Amino acid sequence: MDQLNNFLSPPAAPRDFGFFVDGKWQSGHDFFVRHSPGHGVAVTRTAKCSVDDLNAAVAAARRAFEDRRWSGLPVGSRASVLLRVAEILRTRRDELAYWETLENGKPIAQARGEIDHCIACFEVGAGAARLLHGDSFNSLGDGLFGMVLREPIGVVGLITPWNFPFLILCERVPFILASGCTMVVKPSEVTSATTLILAEVLAEAGLPDGVYNVITGSGRTIGQAMSEHPDIDMLSFTGSTAVGRSCVHAAADSNFKKLGLELGGKNPIIVFADSDLEDAADGAAFGISFNTGQCCVSSSRLIVERSVAREFEALLAEKMKRIRVGDPLDETTQVGAITTEAQNTTILDYIAKGKTEGAELVTGGTAIDLGRGQYIAPTLFSGVSREMAIARDEIFGPVLCSMTFDTVEQAVELANDTVYGLAASVWTKNIDKALTVTRRVRAGRFWVNTMMAGGPEMPLGGFKQSGWGREAGMYGVEEYTQVKSVHVEIGKRTHWIS
Ligand code: NDP
Repeated sequence: MDQLNNFLSPPAAPRDFGFFVDGKWQSGHDFFVRHSPGHGVAVTRTAKCSVDDLNAAVAAARRAFEDRRWSGLPVGSRASVLLRVAEILRTRRDELAYWETLENGKPIAQARGEIDHCIACFEVGAGAARLLHGDSFNSLGDGLFGMVLREPIGVVGLITPWNFPFLILCERVPFILASGCTMVVKPSEVTSATTLILAEVLAEAGLPDGVYNVITGSGRTIGQAMSEHPDIDMLSFTGSTAVGRSCVHAAADSNFKKLGLELGGKNPIIVFADSDLEDAADGAAFGISFNTGQCCVSSSRLIVERSVAREFEALLAEKMKRIRVGDPLDETTQVGAITTEAQNTTILDYIAKGKTEGAELVTGGTAIDLGRGQYIAPTLFSGVSREMAIARDEIFGPVLCSMTFDTVEQAVELANDTVYGLAASVWTKNIDKALTVTRRVRAGRFWVNTMMAGGPEMPLGGFKQSGWGREAGMYGVEEYTQVKSVHVEIGKRTHWIS
């Protein structure tokens, strides 16, 4: 059996993973067994680490930071390690996609595409490392020269969620490494495998021990302890706004660690009557169904011009009905399983709430029974009003709410009527409308006549309650640095006391 054939069905027994501290694999005493959400069978077994394990990992990252074994290397050497990581990931693409699919429930073809994006993140990270620089001020007078040094912030704690375990990891790790920081990573307990595999890859590529450490376990114990930890200098958290808020409190009550937060979204997709409706319907179907809508930038609020609303909803519903929901390991599947039972219940509860709130169910609205695993049909509600819970809350599932507008002003006002500001899109052939809406809707990522396009060169992050700071690209590297102003006297000092 060749290697690829091993990846066609779930494993016969769960794969065991240790955790990774100071360049060494450690075994746990207590374990978490993950069942594939698409198949219902046990696929991985990971350690439930203790707070002592976390403390050891933070101490290792601290030693690696203080002795400059990584940040002190010439930048060319550091960039070479990141490029070697990209090469190794290329050779392990199918394996990484397989574990990602088994733990998360996403379609295997989508998972492979995500691994490709992750490879690009390391390549961009290598370039970003080489371009990172400070500044100088040659204007302070003949007696003084000013330099601005850009320095790594220190030990970074990285908490990642279950919806894009490897992709979100790789939109951060290369940029943290490019800055010269060291780190302790805690993946979501339900999707730890690929974060642990990355430890093998980084070690093989030549990353010094102690620079990348992985602690597994639940958010409530390990995640909370990380946000309270006095020796973590910066915490990058991606997940719910509620937990993001608790990280802010914990940071304030401990050491004022810097926070990078990428939180929830309730992202508008604005469709004007003059758009290519077929294109826009395709974008809307993709925007709400991609990754089963468990995506912080899902376009979950459709804001469509009233004159074409009925026609557009019919076009969209017809497309949504044809989405292939199925076994995540099937090459033809477009939408896989819901990642956790809790999330499955949340989504079905919101669908029930939408019905009782009086929204009109156009398509979907039900669980799909494939005999194993948990699946939900892509769902469209029409006649939604802005007060309804389905229009206000981040559902994090394949549930799209349709609302209407008559003027550009109304479209912008509706789009901004949310506490979130993560992403938005607009569909129109009129450049004036496209640019007006792009400028006035408050969101960190914007798409014009497209959906979810992008690359690791572009910054990621949100406005309002969708978060603080930016990840990826040069903006992302800079988040993990701080600047030092250096003043150098030239020549003989004018004495204060003569
Ligand atoms: P959480 O915010 O609880 O989980 C996200 C990450 O935070 C996971 O790694 C989790 O670990 C960890 N975590 C949990 N509690 C804490 C804590 N007290 N301190 C520090 N870290 C913690 O999200 P849920 O999994 O509960 O999902 C609930 C909702 O959050 C979803 O319905 C969705 O709306 C939103 N969400 C948004 C995401 C985004 O990308 N913006 C991603 C995931 C969820 P563990 O899983 O091991 O408990």
